[in-house]
Amino acid sequence: MNELIMIKYGELTTKKANRKMFIKILNDNIEKLLKDENINITKNSVRMYIECEDANKIKEKLKKVFGIYSIVVAYKVNNNIEDVLEKSLEIMDKNKRTFKVVTKRADKNFKTPSMEYSSKLGGLILKNTDYKVDVHSPDITLTVEIRTTGTYVYTDEVLGAGGYPVGVQGKGLLMLSGGIDSPVAGYLALKRGVNVEGLYFESPPHTSEEAKNKVKTLTKIINEYSGKMKLHIVPFTKIQEEIYKNCPETYMITIMRRMMYRIAEKYSKKINAKAIINGESIGQVASQTLDSLMCVNNVTNMPIIRPVACFDKLEIIELAKKINTYETSILPYEDCCTIFVPKHPVIKPELEKCIEYENLFDFKPLIEDAINNIETITNFDENKFEDLL
Ligand code: ATP
Ligand code: MG
Repeated sequence: MNELIMIKYGELTTKKANRKMFIKILNDNIEKLLKDENINITKNSVRMYIECEDANKIKEKLKKVFGIYSIVVAYKVNNNIEDVLEKSLEIMDKNKRTFKVVTKRADKNFKTPSMEYSSKLGGLILKNTDYKVDVHSPDITLTVEIRTTGTYVYTDEVLGAGGYPVGVQGKGLLMLSGGIDSPVAGYLALKRGVNVEGLYFESPPHTSEEAKNKVKTLTKIINEYSGKMKLHIVPFTKIQEEIYKNCPETYMITIMRRMMYRIAEKYSKKINAKAIINGESIGQVASQTLDSLMCVNNVTNMPIIRPVACFDKLEIIELAKKINTYETSILPYEDCCTIFVPKHPVIKPELEKCIEYENLFDFKPLIEDAINNIETITNFDENKFEDLL
C-alpha cells in the first residue's frame, strides 16, 4: 500500500457538535464500500486519509459517497522544500504550461507563512522548468498542505458527491414506484444523510413480476450511493379492488393515495422511520395539484418529504440520467397507479367527499392486513440491471 487518497469533508464540518459522529458514519460507509480492497483509513476532524494500492480506482468509487466535499490523490513527503519540489515536479502534468502554488499551513509550528512558502516553491519550479505562473486561471494548481500529520502535495482535486454521510439523520421511508421521480427523490434524501428504506405497493395480478423486478433493480442502483436500503413490498390488490368497486371513478386515485399514506405512516412507526419520502411534484398530474396534496396529506401527521416537489419534469429526468436510474424507470411495465386510471380524475378534490367515499367500504382491516403481509427484500444481488434492458 503505497498510494494515498485524502478526503475533505462536506457540509458536516459546519456542525461542530456532531462532527465526530458524522465522520465515524462516513468512515463506516467508506469501509463498507471498499470492503474488498486492501486499505487503511486514518482520520481526524479535518481530513480522512486512505492508504491503498490503486488510488485512482479508489477515487472513482468514492465519487458516489455522500459527505465528501472533495477527493485528492495526495503524496506525503518530508517537510523540506527540496523534497516538496522533487515530488511537485514529478506530479505536475508535463503537457500543461501554467501553474500556481497554494500552500495551506495548518501546522502553526511551521514558521514560514503560506504566501511566502508558495512564492518560494513557485520560484524554484520556475528556475527548474519551462512552466509559467498564472495565478488567475492556471492549468495546474499545485497544493501543499503542511499538517501535523505530515506534508502533502497534490495537483488534482475532484469534487465529491457532497451532502451528508448516509445514516446521520436516521431512517426515512421512501414510497418507491417504478417511475422516474421516486428513485430521484430517494437519491436526494440519501444525499441529506437519510437512511432510506423503500416501500412498494404491488397489485398482482394487475401488476406483474416484471414491474416488481424493476423496483428491485432501482433499489439496487440507488444503493450504490451508500444506501443500505431494504425494499418492503405491500400487497395492495384487495384495497385497490375495493376502491374500484365502491368509489366514484373521479376520486379513485385520491382515495388510493390516502390509503398508501395511511399504510406508509403505520409502517414507518413499525420500523422507526421518522419521515415519509416520495416523488410527488407539484402539478405534475391531477393527484399532485396542491388541492390533491392537501386531501391526501390529511390522513397523516408525519413529515412528508418531497425532494422533487418543485422540480420540472425535465430537471428530474436529467438527474435520473445522472444517477443511472432513468433507463430502468422508462421500461414499460404497468404500475398500480396506471391500472385503474380514471378518465377524468378530480383535480380539486374535496376532503369531505374523500372521507364520505372511503367510508363506503371497511378499509381499516384491509390496511391492517396489508401491513401484516408486507414482504421485505434485503438481497438484490440476483437482480441484474442489464437483464431488464
Ligand atoms: P414516479 O415517476 O415516481 O412513479 P409519477 O409521476 O408516476 O411518479 P404518481 O404515480 O402519481 O407519480 O406517484 C407519485 C408518487 O407516489 C411516486 O413518486 C411515488 O413516490 C409514490 N408511488 C406511486 N405509486 C407507487 C407504488 N406503486 N409504490 C410505492 N410508491 C408509489
Ligand atoms: Mg408512478
